[in-house]
Amino acid sequence: MKIGFIGTGNMGGPMAANVLAGGHELLVYDSQATATEALEASGAVRCDNLASLASGSEVVFLSLPGPSEVTAVAAQILPQMSSGQTLVDMSTNSPSVVKDIARDARARDVVFLDAPVSGGVRGAKKGTLAIMVGGDASHYSRLEPLFKCMGENIFHVGDVGAGNVAKLVNNMLAFSTMMANAEALVLGAKAGVDPNVLWNVVRTSSGSSMTWEGGARAILRDRLAPTFTVDLACKDIGLATDLANELDVDLTMVPTAERLLKDFQANGYAKEDVLATVKALEEAAGVVVRGTWDE
Ligand code: NAD
Repeated sequence: MKIGFIGTGNMGGPMAANVLAGGHELLVYDSQATATEALEASGAVRCDNLASLASGSEVVFLSLPGPSEVTAVAAQILPQMSSGQTLVDMSTNSPSVVKDIARDARARDVVFLDAPVSGGVRGAKKGTLAIMVGGDASHYSRLEPLFKCMGENIFHVGDVGAGNVAKLVNNMLAFSTMMANAEALVLGAKAGVDPNVLWNVVRTSSGSSMTWEGGARAILRDRLAPTFTVDLACKDIGLATDLANELDVDLTMVPTAERLLKDFQANGYAKEDVLATVKALEEAAGVVVRGTWDE
C-alpha cells in the first residue's frame, strides 16, 4: 500500500521504519528535516509539504506530540483527502479532540481511527507495541495487517476515542507508579538497604509492575537518556485528569502524581526523561540510587 507517515520522531521514526520493512511504499513528513533522514536512507520518500503527502497516500498515520499538533496537521491534510483514504492518529491524544477530527474526516468521506500505542521507543523499534484502536470494526480489520507491522498486541477497543481512553488510563497508572517507584528506591536506600537487593525483593513481591521491572532498573543502571520526556508525561496525565473532570469522576492519587510531574516540568526537567526526575528526590534525601546496578 501507499502509506504516509507524519511525525517521525522517537516513536514515529521506528514505527514508520517497520511499515517500510513490511513492504509498503512510504511517504514521510516531519517539521524537522533531520527526523526523516534515516527513513529516506532506507527507501522512504520525503514530501516537501503535508498536502503532497496527504494526496499521495492511501493511509496516513500521525505520530505527533499531542492534541494541538494533531488538530493543526489534520486541518491542513483533510482538505487534500477524499473518499477511499484513511487517517489514523497514533499520537496520545484527547478522546474529545479525536472525535472532532473524526467528524471533520467523515464530512469528506475519509475514514478516521485513533490508535495510540504503548511500549516505548524499544517497543517501537522491535515492532512489539501495544496498539489500542478506536473506530469502526470493519476499518479496524482492514488496517490490522498494517498495525501488525508496528505492534504485537493490537486491540479494537471501541468507537473513535476509545483507543485514547484506554491509553490515558494506562498512562495515568504508569506515571503514578513511576513516581512512587522513585520514592521507594530513595527511601529504601536512605534506610540503608542496597538498591539492587531492594529491586530484586520488589520484583518478586506484590509491589512489582512493568514500571518497576523496566523503569526502576533503568534508574539503577543510570540509563536515563530522554525517550519519554516529562513534557509528554505532563501532557498525558493532564489529558487523563481532564477526562475525569469532564465525566465528574473524582480522582485523588493521580492528581498528586500530576502535581509532582508539573513541579519537575517547571523546575528544569521538561526535556528530561520522566525517570530522570529521581535526581531531584536523591538530592533532597541526600542519597544516590543511580548507577548502583550490580551488572
Ligand atoms: P517526538 O517529539 O520524538 O516526535 C514527534 C515528532 O513530530 C517530532 O519529530 C516533531 O518534529 C514532529 N512534529 C511536531 N509538530 C509537527 C507538525 N506540525 N508537523 C509535522 N511534524 C511535527 O515524540 P515521540 O516520543 O515520538 O511521541 C509521539 C507520540 O507518541 C506522542 O503523542 C507521545 O505521547 C506518544 N508516545 C510516546 C512514547 C515514548 O516512549 N516516547 C510512548 C508511547 C506513546
